[in-house]
Amino acid sequence: MKPVIAIVGRPNVGKSTLFNRLTKSRDAIVADFAGLTRDRHYGDGHLGDREFIVIDTGGFEPDSSTGIVKEMAKQTRQAVAEADVVIFVVDVRAGLSAQDHDIANYLRTVGKKVLLAINKAEGMQESPHLAEFYELGMGEPHPISSAHGQGIRSLTEAALEDF
Ligand code: GDP
Ligand code: MG
Repeated sequence: MKPVIAIVGRPNVGKSTLFNRLTKSRDAIVADFAGLTRDRHYGDGHLGDREFIVIDTGGFEPDSSTGIVKEMAKQTRQAVAEADVVIFVVDVRAGLSAQDHDIANYLRTVGKKVLLAINKAEGMQESPHLAEFYELGMGEPHPISSAHGQGIRSLTEAALEDF
């Protein structure tokens, strides 16, 4: 079984950009994975010869009956339930938000390995803003730039290290 990595975080932090960066083939092959729904938010990734599955979240189809917040929470819960490891993405340019704290509090309850990815950190490795993310209590943050491909390899290695 390939390890499954879920990408979670509030809207606009760069989850889908990271997903695209991690997945080489856009058409995910998920038929072999019992229990995983066929869904366009699954993709295949690899690090050298190590293969993994990535789940993007937040491709919401806002629905008046549930609303976007509930739909987001549902997608996040489903992805986290299927995942072996979670990448929690935050945005260093926007800074820490109440929604980030809510997601962190939720992730603390699920008993899975969580990696905190500080996205949009291109050229900001020395930024004082990086420090505030320690407040989330999610361990050592991984500065990345999904758009520019920085920090992605070391994040992926950390995600896969137990597999
Ligand atoms: P999602 O809503 O979390 O899936 O976020 P998206 O992947 O759609 O990205 C939201 C916005 O952030 C887009 O305009 C992206 O181009 C931008 N973005 C994503 N990653 C980076 C990054 O590493 N650096 C910068 N500067 N912008 C980024
Ligand atoms: Mg997205």
